[in-house]
Amino acid sequence: MRAIVKYRKGKGFVEEREMPEPQITEDEVLIEVKAVSVCGSDIHIYHDEHPNWPPMIMGHELSGVIAETGKRVKNWKKGDRVVTETRTKSCGTCLYCETGKPHICPEKRPLGIGVDGAMAKYVAVPWKLLHRLPPSIKFVEASLCEPLAVCVHGLIERTGINAGDTVLISGPGPIGLICLQLAKAAGAYVLVSGTSRSAGLKLKKALELGADEIIDIGKENVIEKVKKASGGYGADVVVEASGSPFAIKTAFESLRRQGKLCAMGITGKPAAEIPWDTAIFKAPQVTFCFSSSWSSWETGIKMLERKQVNLAKLVTHQLPLAKWQEGFGALQKGKAIKVVLIP
Ligand SMILES: [Zn+2]
Ligand SMILES: [Zn+2]
Repeated sequence: MRAIVKYRKGKGFVEEREMPEPQITEDEVLIEVKAVSVCGSDIHIYHDEHPNWPPMIMGHELSGVIAETGKRVKNWKKGDRVVTETRTKSCGTCLYCETGKPHICPEKRPLGIGVDGAMAKYVAVPWKLLHRLPPSIKFVEASLCEPLAVCVHGLIERTGINAGDTVLISGPGPIGLICLQLAKAAGAYVLVSGTSRSAGLKLKKALELGADEIIDIGKENVIEKVKKASGGYGADVVVEASGSPFAIKTAFESLRRQGKLCAMGITGKPAAEIPWDTAIFKAPQVTFCFSSSWSSWETGIKMLERKQVNLAKLVTHQLPLAKWQEGFGALQKGKAIKVVLIP
């Protein structure tokens, strides 16, 4: 089968290759991949700015149909429509695994990052990681269930958001635009900030998806706009989804006292500057977020089925797998929001 492979450590070293079809173990299912979405972390992996263990087939945001089941697989059969968590190789016996958090197990080697992923016709996945895809959800939008689960876990389950909150989302990429929709569903007033470069596509999309205000940081003052929207106090919640040094500093400055910061954006650098004393005197709750829990997948799928979030509107490019370079390029140039590849 044709597959997109990161074949060695370092910047680049990704190509389309002929690879053998995966052989499943007794506890795995073989999924015929219907759609695989390119994640921001795939771009970071391309540039070696995110942990990765090559050689491996890339891709962890997928939807598909079960093509084959291992002998010990329960509750799943050939033809079932599925999406899958990515916590492959979690050990099952450490502090995190034993307390219901296998997604932060240090032994975890995620799909498409530490083991072969879904940028191919088939992928093998342990059956315990599967979630059922309702018939009303199409495969292309379903391939975005992973970032949806990450946002549900980070913003709803871990940070917490209330009706009436004033929320600033910095960074109108896929994570920011999904968090925007979750915040709106939770009853918040939402401002979304982004660079002038993002204004034409991504900030416009934020308005389309229900943002109450958008802020072009090249032209407007974020802190002033947030204060104006919150009676002078500052945001109850800031979602930092850009990873940019300016936005990280602004996030602390935009928060009200004892507000909540939900940190989701990767900087791609070893360290980032934060205004420490401002933070001390504001005493915010800061939650660093990554990965997703079992419950966040179930919640995300329910919300998608009930049309409380729309993932299809984030997909700007749908391309055959062979055109992966075009998709990666469009993302890096800021010309795409979500690129979905069809194997
Ligand atoms: Zn992802
Ligand atoms: Zn573990």
